[in-house]
Amino acid sequence: MGEGTFKIQIKGRVQGVGFRPFVFNLAQQLNINGTVFNDAEGVLIKINTSKDKANSFLETLLKNAPLVSIISTYEIEEITQQNFTDFSIIPSKLNGNINIPLTPDFAICNECKEEIKDAKNRRYGYAFTTCVKCGPRYAITKKFPFERDHTSLSDFEMCFACEKEYIDPANRRFHSQTNSCSDCGIRLELVDNTGKPVDIDQQKILKKAATYISEGKILAIKNTNGYLLCCDATNSEPVEQLRQKKKRPNKPFAVLYNTIEAIQNDFKITTKEKESLNSTIAPIVILENTANTRFATQATAPHLNQTGVFLPSSAILELLMHRLKKPLVCTSGNIHGSPIISENEIAQEKLSVVADYIIHHNLPIQFPQDDSVLKIVDNEQILLRRARGFAPNYLADNPNCETAILAMGAHLKSTFSLVPNNHIYVSQYFGNLDSYDVLERYQKTIKQQLGVFNCSPKYILIDTHPTYQSSILGKELSQSYNAQLIRVQHHKAHFTSVLGEHQLFDSKEKILGVVWDGTGYGDDDAIWGGEFFIYKNQTMKRVNHFEYYDWLANDKMAQEPRIALLSLLEKENRSYIIDKFSVSEYKIYTKMLENNVLKTSSVGRLFDAVASALNINDINTYESEAPMLLENCALTYSKSYYIDFLHNVDFDTVPSTLIIARIITACREGFCKERLAYSFIYTLAKSIITLSKRYNTYTIACSGGVFQNRILVDLLSQLCKRNKINLKLNRKLSPNDENISFGQLMYFQNIKN
Ligand SMILES: [Zn+2]
Ligand SMILES: [Zn+2]
Repeated sequence: MGEGTFKIQIKGRVQGVGFRPFVFNLAQQLNINGTVFNDAEGVLIKINTSKDKANSFLETLLKNAPLVSIISTYEIEEITQQNFTDFSIIPSKLNGNINIPLTPDFAICNECKEEIKDAKNRRYGYAFTTCVKCGPRYAITKKFPFERDHTSLSDFEMCFACEKEYIDPANRRFHSQTNSCSDCGIRLELVDNTGKPVDIDQQKILKKAATYISEGKILAIKNTNGYLLCCDATNSEPVEQLRQKKKRPNKPFAVLYNTIEAIQNDFKITTKEKESLNSTIAPIVILENTANTRFATQATAPHLNQTGVFLPSSAILELLMHRLKKPLVCTSGNIHGSPIISENEIAQEKLSVVADYIIHHNLPIQFPQDDSVLKIVDNEQILLRRARGFAPNYLADNPNCETAILAMGAHLKSTFSLVPNNHIYVSQYFGNLDSYDVLERYQKTIKQQLGVFNCSPKYILIDTHPTYQSSILGKELSQSYNAQLIRVQHHKAHFTSVLGEHQLFDSKEKILGVVWDGTGYGDDDAIWGGEFFIYKNQTMKRVNHFEYYDWLANDKMAQEPRIALLSLLEKENRSYIIDKFSVSEYKIYTKMLENNVLKTSSVGRLFDAVASALNINDINTYESEAPMLLENCALTYSKSYYIDFLHNVDFDTVPSTLIIARIITACREGFCKERLAYSFIYTLAKSIITLSKRYNTYTIACSGGVFQNRILVDLLSQLCKRNKINLKLNRKLSPNDENISFGQLMYFQNIKN
């Protein structure tokens, strides 16, 4: 059998995940000579062997590829004979166009966790222990391909022992680009809030930190993705202090645990939730409290029966939690509404106002990110915030499409999407662009990513809302890049985001789009937020919406559920809520109602109105407080006597005022608020089924922030199963405005009208 040379090209997430060492070892085992290297497309392998052996080599490779890698495509072909005398890894050369995905950060793996707690191991207590399977990637990337010299680690030279691991094929740190140890690596520094050093002894710093936390102090800690503010979750005093200093009276904090067993003791947890917590993403997962939950739950997440919980994502947090052995409140290190801080000087200046002590380190962070947040409903994930671990993972390949495209996203939950090559990247969550700091971070990251890919956009996509900061910036960028500017309506983008995630554009049947959120600029100048569309053959049409009602007092309406309620109440019922306002407020708002022209179909505000009608919340202290409290209230309803407030109502547009009127009546008749809250959500789920039948559709695609509601998603999926309807939701992206940038892109690429 003749021997030849075979070239194997692997594309996908294959750099920075230990792929080359894996290929090397496989070749050694099979006694095959050749080379492997990172190229502009992914990983390129050349081997000397027979055709049969080359194919079985590829087969084994695909079957056993590293867990954190994602292979999107592969090719094998015979090329001109080349002679190799061994198998070697060739360092990368940067050539021409880069066509590979950026790699997200990976949470610390179990082997590394063991090593840092083993007094006999040379990495005992080293807070930046990583291996080919774990550690920061995106956070430290300066340019492509993913080689040490192209990351923040380039400032650190490997010591002899690390170098030995790096070149030893049998070692699990063979070609680990982030390899370092306490002799040659990153150093911690503990200072007080005046900047005075407290300790530089690496073994003592985290021990001291744990002691301070136990004593009730607040600490700022630089993790590998940015600073965190932390305090003892079992002591309500520092938690309250943290709230005061951060000017965050009620918004829930996440809680870090040291082990999954400790979480299981404190919460109701499903297999799927456990898997998610233990995954290489290590996100914050929202879990239901139990009677055993042993920390200061009311200080941590006021009025809620759920807590965002997570496990250490890095060696530094693992070591701290190992010493502390109790739950720790952990929140992004920022000051009210600004982005997570990642630079030492800024942290010292800004976080010292909140923290008693600060732990810095000397690893520069290129792309800071918050921790990701999700919940599991009906055994599937719903993202609430997509950041560390998920972003900027590419979502889909982008074959035969023009590049480069930059989609600017929305405003309150801003993200951007970039198509620099054959991949689509959706950025991490940035937050509210009204904040100057957030806008600056968003702008800077766009520039940085364009730089990483060395591309300039030909098309820039923006929301039709004229005053979104993302639209304004998009317009400016389109001028400076001489790019074509394209506007995409907000709710249509939501709809196409789901169609895109599930690749439904080629569907033969028509699809009902259900898009419910707080606000978005509508084609008729009204504020949309309760929309129904039909998609068919690359076209989409708005076919229905929630009844229009008055939009009052601009942004105030989103902050004050009582205003939404006032707007949705029939005149004769207004006296019912007069006590929610001062005399002059009531006068002003009712006067406004008489002359108002701006209308809305917002389901987000309808949720607010119901929360106010049930006396759950009249004024929000953080975004989405009312719907969260309403969901929490409904979750405590354990019976199954739901009311459909639209039973036997033959409606054209979904009648929000009628729903409110019926809830008020039921409330007066003495029905408990838990049952009414649940019934309201049930009514909404039923209305989707009603309209699906009316339009004769068997696939429904839902998007918008309202679909973060656990009960709505749960009830809707039950109803869909019963009615043999296919239900599609955002899964890889959050249902909220974080998906707008991806939706804009999908609209641009797939919709004709
Ligand atoms: Zn590891
Ligand atoms: Zn070292």
